Parts: sequence; C-alpha cells; structure tokens
Amino acid sequence: MKVNTAEFVISNSDASKCPKDPIPEYAFIGRSNVGKSSLINMLTGHKSLAKTSARPGKTQLINHFLINKNWFLVDLPGYGYARVSKSTKATFQKFITDYFETRAQLVCAFVLIDSRLEPQKIDVEFINYLGESGIPFCMIFTKADKLGKTQVQKNVAAYKKHLLANDWEEIPQYFVTSSADGTGREEILKYIGAVNDEINS
Ligand code: GDP
Repeated sequence: MKVNTAEFVISNSDASKCPKDPIPEYAFIGRSNVGKSSLINMLTGHKSLAKTSARPGKTQLINHFLINKNWFLVDLPGYGYARVSKSTKATFQKFITDYFETRAQLVCAFVLIDSRLEPQKIDVEFINYLGESGIPFCMIFTKADKLGKTQVQKNVAAYKKHLLANDWEEIPQYFVTSSADGTGREEILKYIGAVNDEINS
C-alpha cells in the first residue's frame, strides 16, 4: 500500500470522544521511548506527523490520523504502571483500557517492543491483557538497526520462547522495524492494506 495522504484529525484523552466514523482503525502502542513516533513518521512518510520527543511519557493523548482517507492510524500514549496496581487491568492507564474495550472500529493493535531488550514485564503484561481481552494485535520489534541481524533474530527468538512459557500457544504475528533505515515499512503497510481489502470485500 502506498500512503498518499496522512492527516491529523483529533487528539483527546477520552475514548468516548474518538471519531465515530465507521472506518477501520489500527492502533500503535508501547512504552515511552520505544520508537513509536519515529515509526509512525516512517510509515506515513512524514517527518513530524507524530511528535518525537526525548522526554519520555510527555503525551498522554489518543491521536487519530486519517490515512488515504480510508483508515485511521491511532497513536496511543506510552503505557506505564499506575501507582496502585490491584489487577493487571489497573496496571494501565484507564483511558487506554477504555479505548481497547470500547473501540468497535479497532482492527488491530501494534504493540511496539524494543528489539534490544530482553522481555520486559510491562510489555508482556500488556500483551497478556490484549490476549485475555480478545483484542487482535501484532508485535513490532523496533530499532533493529541498532543490532546486527543475528542478534535481532536471537532476541526475537527469546521473546517467542518467553511467551510460549507464559501460556501463549501461538506466537502472534510480528514485524521487525527500523525507522532509521525503513526496515519493515513495506511489510506493515502491505499487512494493513491486505486487512483493509478483506474488510472492504
Ligand atoms: P516514542 O517515545 O516511543 O514516540 O519514541 P521516539 O520515536 O520519540 O524515539 C525515541 C528515541 O529513539 C529517539 O531518540 C529516536 O531518534 C530513537 N529511535 C526511534 N526509532 C529508532 C530506530 O528505528 N533506530 C534508531 N537508531 N533510533 C531510533
């Protein structure tokens, strides 16, 4: 899929105020600094559609971008632990869980994971939350240019092993990306294009 147009539509911190349009929506989420803004800019071919920032956790907004006038790319805030964590659900900011639990238009969530790190507790908890909530998602291993190819493969394999050891029977679809050199761009856009075609057929 080619990205011909990418327009900012609305930001808010209330899932119920997100656009009502019945068009397919793909959400991007991960820990602060995982490379989400850079990836969104790389995918859309814009230098600053999503704001990259050296200050982690700055934005706490749900940002809707309309792509090719027929699907939404949603930039979700970096997740983090709430101060009081009584259950897995309470671990994540309420407006994030509200978003996932109420957004009928959501087709797929892309969970960004830093390819350099061993499995992080909060990422695995978030993946488990999506799985338990029945929300379709893919994983994206970011910043692959910072490692050699073999090391990326090793880290991805370690991640798979970790999930399989944590009650996952199958590994969700995943992509390896680099916003620095464009790795993974075609694959992700092709995937979204194919899912959109299926929805529209
Ligand atoms: P966000 O907080 O998840 O939106 O992360 P940003 O996109 O702002 O990126 C955080 C930092 O990582 C910035 O300094 C980026 O330049 C850097 N970064 C993001 N993606 C990549 C990548 O694919 N390769 C490299 N080398 N650096 C990246």
